[in-house]
Amino acid sequence: MSGSASYPELTQAISWLALGFCVPEDWEIVRHGIGFERGSLVFVDRVRQRLSVSWTACPRAPDLERLLSDFGNQPLTVGEKVLDQQDHSGFRVLECETQIGDHVTHALCFDPLSKRLIELELPAAGAPHDALAPALLASFTFAQPEHGQRVRAFGVHAEVPEGFRLSASQVKPADVNLEFERSARRGERSAERLRIRRSGMARTWFGGDAARSIRLRRPELRFHDFRPAAVGPHTAVVARGYPRGAILQRAFGLVAPRSVTLWECPEQNAVFETEVCVPRGQDANSAELSVWCCAGHAKEARHGG
Ligand SMILES: [Zn+2]
Repeated sequence: MSGSASYPELTQAISWLALGFCVPEDWEIVRHGIGFERGSLVFVDRVRQRLSVSWTACPRAPDLERLLSDFGNQPLTVGEKVLDQQDHSGFRVLECETQIGDHVTHALCFDPLSKRLIELELPAAGAPHDALAPALLASFTFAQPEHGQRVRAFGVHAEVPEGFRLSASQVKPADVNLEFERSARRGERSAERLRIRRSGMARTWFGGDAARSIRLRRPELRFHDFRPAAVGPHTAVVARGYPRGAILQRAFGLVAPRSVTLWECPEQNAVFETEVCVPRGQDANSAELSVWCCAGHAKEARHGG
């Protein structure tokens, strides 16, 4: 983050679909898209919506000036009065006032690395905090989507191996599930899959027996091997297994083994679970997944394989 000492501090780092930025600690994601080509993240605080970040694939850099000059004629922005227009950290920024006197900051930029148009909307009740929008815009980083992706949202902080894409998500207040898939390459039987789950309020339900938790949470898998592993400062259990009821397919090598890793992070009061599914005959190391829980991890944890 740039050296903005202003209130509120942008201490929460977000990484999502090759976009990185920082928001205040108490902002929460209430809506999220998982499509790389089009989607948005919407943040709220305890009172109201604070930010939306939207992205749309755009093969060539659009004429931002023209888009913005047309701003007043757009049906969605009718009634908003442009108070000021400037550039901040590569964004074109419009400060606007709504009919009821609220301020809204709109910011637009084209990210050449991911070839997407990025749009931000920061509503403020009454007069905006002057330093917030510039600090937030300055915190933006862009990445090439082909590179190993950093995910940082919903209390999950992970580095996903190259080629994997977010394929599904299920986000409940204390239970977050993110799934990633690398589509089958030629000559391969099936896609590779990764899953990250973060379950909060661990102290109320997790008794400390990781192997038991894995069995209970994944009844559809038959595990044959449990062993301890270090994940940062924690001790995890890594279980290997196969889907139940697929004995013959498994005998013929048609079913990919699963590797489930589970550990408790007392600092976050959360239990983390990762699952790696790599089709047979493939290098299991090709799906190495790094998940961090508490900030104190000096080394990246590696799971799977
Ligand atoms: Zn931890």
